[in-house]
Amino acid sequence: MMEFVKSLQCVHCGQEYDPAVIELYCPDCGYNDGILNVVYDYDSIGKQFNPSSLKDCRRYSMWRYLPLLPVADSDTIPHLQVGWTPLYRAPLLAAELGVANCYVKDEGRNPTASFKDRASSIGVIKAIEKKAARITCASTGNAASSLAGFAAAAQLPATIFVPKTAPEAKIAQLLIYGAQVFAVDGTYDQAWELCMEASAEFGWYNRNCAVNPNLIEGKKTVSLELVEQILALGEAMPDWVAVSVGDGCTVGGVYKGLWEMVRLGFIAKVPKILGVQAEGCQPFVTSWQNDAPLIPCEALTLADSIAVGHPRNFAKGLQAITQSEGAYIAVTDAEILAAMKLLARKAAVFGEPAGVAAAAGVQRAVSAGIIDKSATVAILVTGNGLKDIKSAVKAAGSPIIIPPSLAAVKAAVK
Ligand SMILES: *Cc1c(COP(=O)(O)O)cnc(C)c1O
Ligand SMILES: [Zn+2]
Repeated sequence: MMEFVKSLQCVHCGQEYDPAVIELYCPDCGYNDGILNVVYDYDSIGKQFNPSSLKDCRRYSMWRYLPLLPVADSDTIPHLQVGWTPLYRAPLLAAELGVANCYVKDEGRNPTASFKDRASSIGVIKAIEKKAARITCASTGNAASSLAGFAAAAQLPATIFVPKTAPEAKIAQLLIYGAQVFAVDGTYDQAWELCMEASAEFGWYNRNCAVNPNLIEGKKTVSLELVEQILALGEAMPDWVAVSVGDGCTVGGVYKGLWEMVRLGFIAKVPKILGVQAEGCQPFVTSWQNDAPLIPCEALTLADSIAVGHPRNFAKGLQAITQSEGAYIAVTDAEILAAMKLLARKAAVFGEPAGVAAAAGVQRAVSAGIIDKSATVAILVTGNGLKDIKSAVKAAGSPIIIPPSLAAVKAAVK
């Protein structure tokens, strides 16, 4: 709750701000570098938030972690059920990936079928707190469709910028929830800049995850849940948590949630994080491997949700990997399509390309000797496969077309 928020601290210069005064980014460092981090009073939180308080909590959604969220008034929480997504054991998938144990957390089970719902729910709450007349974001697709859903839940007008090339299903989601949609004839990076300009020009509330520090707070709940679910199984924490990376907000949230569970005494150490990018768009991998600053690049991958040539949350995205002593790795589009089939056939979870990229990354990291064969990994499947039918069909091929006769079935079965 807001009562536990101490300040917003700039990740670049360290300056701390009062959230009532400065809300988005550090005015001294600007929105490229001056990303803020929400700082809490963990000692006070720990007094009411601990393993035994959670055991008694009947709220099976991300709101069970309310003390760790920047929410002023719980009456503003939207009615949609977000979070508390299933965590599955996936032994057959583990065998295919070449590791000892594997868990799959299916984030496609959120209300708009992606992980982004954890962030959008906080976005609309903050917009309501600010009495904003309209909320906006730019997105490769999922943050957009998610915001559209949560704006509908909160009855808040939304204006959304997506690249014209976003998958049809995601654009359909935007329209059906009633958002005003601008399909930008350009890249996601251009849509993002345009959204920033429009939000400044019209005073719309900005839900862009990189520049709005509250959003990552929603995203971190995936890790709070992961820890709680694994502890509830009575099993050991995974050695690795794998997740795909575009702007870097998701992996930043994953790290923060794990770090908080250490800070609050639930677990002893943060698991290593594997950040997975597509080979045709791997600015984090390049920077991490060469210990070099960000060089924006082209975005050539069918995994549209991670087709981000200019990551907007570079600092947090990089820190998640260095602080957890994890690794960045890139996979090809062909490996992503193969992982799509593998997850569906060995764990029965259908993910979109960016949703399954983490699994492809685990496979790569095992063969590269980065992940040990004896390791336990948790894979976050960040979006549902129905969001991008074209890629699914590309991965799975076509059905067998037959005339309506048993003879034809007999012939085909042979
Ligand atoms: C947004 C998204 C990601 C990556 O999140 P970033 O914060 O951009 O790094 C991964 N998978 C899916 C399905 C997404 O929608
Ligand atoms: Zn700063």
